[in-house]
Amino acid sequence: MQKVSPKTIGRLSLYRGLLENLRQDGNSTVFSHELAAAANCSAAQVRRDLMSIEYSGSPVHGYQVTELIDRIDIFLDRPEGTNVALVGVGNLGRAVLDYFRARRPKISIVAAFDINENKTDRVILGCPVYPMSRLADIVTAKNILVGIVTVPAASAQQVAERLIRADVKGILNFAPIRLKVPHHVYVEDVDITMCLEKVAYFSWLRTEERGVRAS
Ligand code: NAD
Repeated sequence: MQKVSPKTIGRLSLYRGLLENLRQDGNSTVFSHELAAAANCSAAQVRRDLMSIEYSGSPVHGYQVTELIDRIDIFLDRPEGTNVALVGVGNLGRAVLDYFRARRPKISIVAAFDINENKTDRVILGCPVYPMSRLADIVTAKNILVGIVTVPAASAQQVAERLIRADVKGILNFAPIRLKVPHHVYVEDVDITMCLEKVAYFSWLRTEERGVRAS
C-alpha cells in the first residue's frame, strides 16, 4: 500500500467531511479551489493530495463529489471496518462514546473498559463496558485495532502498555502525557488545553499588534 504522511491523511479526512456537507447541500461537483477554500489550504495542495490517492477526476471540469467521497472511503477505510476500544469511562470518555455513536460507518467503538466496578458489566451510551481484567480477551475476540485512552495521566502509560500487549496498533491519547510506545504502534495525542493556550496566545498577540498599528 502507498505510504502517505499523517498530515495528508488528516486533510483527506477533512476533505471527506467537507464533501459530505456539499453532497447534503445538493452539490454534485466541486472545483479544487472551492475544496481548498473550505479546507483552508491551496488548490495545488488539494490536487497533490488527490494525486497521492490516485484519484483521476478532472480538476478542469470539477470533481464528482460522490465519486471523490467513494475514492477517499476506499483509501481511508478498511472494507471490514475498524474496531476501537475506549479505556476510562469518565467525563471525557462518556463524551467521546456519545459523540462517536454511529458517526462513522467504518469506525466503531465496540468496547469500553474501566477500573470502577460501578461502571462495568453494563452498557453505557450504547457501548458495553468491561472490567480491565477482560481487556486482552475482548480486544482479541472483537478484533480491536485501536485504543482510545481517557484515563487520568498517572494511569495512561500502563493502560497504553496493556492495550499494546493485547495487540492494538494505534492509540488516540487524551491524557496529558507523552506515551512511550514501540515503533510499530501509531499514537495521536489530543490536547484541548494546548490548543486553547495557543488560541489565547495568538489572540493576545493580535490585540497587541492592533494596538501598535493604531498608536
Ligand atoms: P474522569 O476522572 O472523569 O474519568 C477517568 C476515568 O478513568 C474514570 O472512569 C476512572 O474510573 C477511569 N480509570 C482511572 N484509572 C484507570 C485505569 N488504570 N484503568 C482503567 N480505567 C481507569 O476524568 P476525565 O475528566 O474524563 O479525564 C480523563 C483524561 O482525559 C484525563 O487524563 C484528563 O487530563 C484528560 N483530558 C484531556 C482533554 C484533552 O483535550 N485531551 C480534555 C479533558 C480531559
